Amino acid sequence: MQCWICASPANGTCRFCGRAVCREDAKTHPFVLEVYPSDGNLYGLAVEDALHCGVCKPRPEPVLMDFLASPKVPNDAKALNAAKAPTAAKAPTAAKPRKTKKSDE
Ligand SMILES: [Zn+2]
Ligand SMILES: [Zn+2]
Repeated sequence: MQCWICASPANGTCRFCGRAVCREDAKTHPFVLEVYPSDGNLYGLAVEDALHCGVCKPRPEPVLMDFLASPKVPNDAKALNAAKAPTAAKAPTAAKPRKTKKSDE
């Protein structure tokens, strides 16, 4: 593999984007391996000098993943399901009382 920046033989790949870089062009960037809560605080396991290509831009702040939120169900589909459920439940309950009445008499 060749360096993304100068096309000489690469010495490693960026921890963030996967680009290959040579020793001269390689940079370092802190990389958080894991964040875990303890005693009400958040602790992180991090590598201080993870290999960074210098091209990609790891975000210094969290990015809101609003596009991963649950997909919106059309209101029409919800209304159809809500309307179907009660009618289906009515049939069995209507049939049961007749049998119990007969056994009581
Ligand atoms: Zn290079
Ligand atoms: Zn990179």
